Amino acid sequence: MVDEQIIPRGITDTRVLDAMATVPRHLFVEDAMAANAYGDFPLPIGSGQTISQPYIVALMTQALQLKGDERVLEIGTGSGYQAAVLSRICEKVYTVERIDGLLGKARRIFDKLRYHNIISRIDDGTTGWEDEAPFDAIIVTAGGPYIPQPLLDQLADPGRMIIPVGEHGYQELKLVVKEDGEVKTFTVEYVRFVDLIGTHGW
Ligand code: SAH
Repeated sequence: MVDEQIIPRGITDTRVLDAMATVPRHLFVEDAMAANAYGDFPLPIGSGQTISQPYIVALMTQALQLKGDERVLEIGTGSGYQAAVLSRICEKVYTVERIDGLLGKARRIFDKLRYHNIISRIDDGTTGWEDEAPFDAIIVTAGGPYIPQPLLDQLADPGRMIIPVGEHGYQELKLVVKEDGEVKTFTVEYVRFVDLIGTHGW
């Protein structure tokens, strides 16, 4: 997967490449899909949600420029795969999911793999995780109509956020960089994520 899909598309951060070579992606998909777990596409994970294509996980993770000592907030735990990748290259991952059944499954895999630096909860992630803010990096893995203000407020300075923003089923992947009190936004890629549902989403 790393050699055929991720390196050829220009992902160079060795922390990201190593993490994606280490985390067993097949554990995060349903048993019937395990044979396809390392394919170059997203897969259904139940409850109408999907685990992202491996390259998109790599691209979003690399955009955060993690060095190892960061506290990272993820909105949209889903299968738990993205959180697992993050957990290998930062200090602590705080991940929020709105669907109970998905988070339950993800937690069982984190325990099995002994990924103890992942903390999770059920909530509307569009309001962030105020008690634990600020975060050095924020990653949103569902697409909403705009960037939720609570997430901008909970991003540390300096800090980086990656988030798909746009229409249902079609978004621009935005990189938000906060530095010296200024916020700059860049478009990194065009993507298709499931809906971000909540107070500051759909
Ligand atoms: N990162 C996931 C992919 C998630 S798919 C993985 O690696 O598998 C997007 C997820 O975002 C879905 O599970 C969906 O339930 C969740 N989601 C949508 N809106 C949300 C919200 N407001 N707060 C938390 N989770 C949300």
